[in-house]
Amino acid sequence: MPNFKVVIIGIGGVGKSALTLQFVHRKFVDAYEPTIEDIYRRQIELDDEVYVLDLLDTAGQEEFSVIHDTHLRSGDGFIIVFSLVDRESYESVPNLISQIYKVKETDKFPIVIVGNKSDLEKDRCVDFVEAEKFAKQKNSRYFETSAKLRTNVEDPFHFLAREMNRISLNP
Ligand code: GDP
Ligand code: MG
Repeated sequence: MPNFKVVIIGIGGVGKSALTLQFVHRKFVDAYEPTIEDIYRRQIELDDEVYVLDLLDTAGQEEFSVIHDTHLRSGDGFIIVFSLVDRESYESVPNLISQIYKVKETDKFPIVIVGNKSDLEKDRCVDFVEAEKFAKQKNSRYFETSAKLRTNVEDPFHFLAREMNRISLNP
């Protein structure tokens, strides 16, 4: 069974924990402790293959948006989360991508970008087309989710699993 490490990054308050817990436990955790960093495991079946995903829900990028080197090294793939209602969280994404590419010494690494809190549509301050175009430029893929309503929560993880598998078979 392919086993991959997925590291979930993004500045504080964007919904990294909510998204991870919704994916793993299928419930919305409204007020998860912002400083807790934890590892979860979930198996998924895709294309007649069972994948074991180890998920690291990171914390502590609030101040400098610098990711620990050990997290960068350990990831087989990354989910970068920002909040659709927090423009600043979107602006921090390019820097996070650069940090990954630098440590991995490549600009083609399995990364998905997730705009979360799509349920707050009326307060949206990041345009779908803009974010999708940006992701494409970075060899990444863009998804919008609502961890609260469990909208599209599976899709970014599935896409990433397939990407990590593709790269591991054909480095
Ligand atoms: P983290 O710091 O990135 O791990 O963010 P959390 O998962 O702790 O979420 C931060 C806050 O945003 C909490 O109050 C969550 O309830 C809220 N939140 C997370 N995801 C969503 C979402 O999809 N929609 C809405 N409306 N709120 C969300
Ligand atoms: Mg958290």
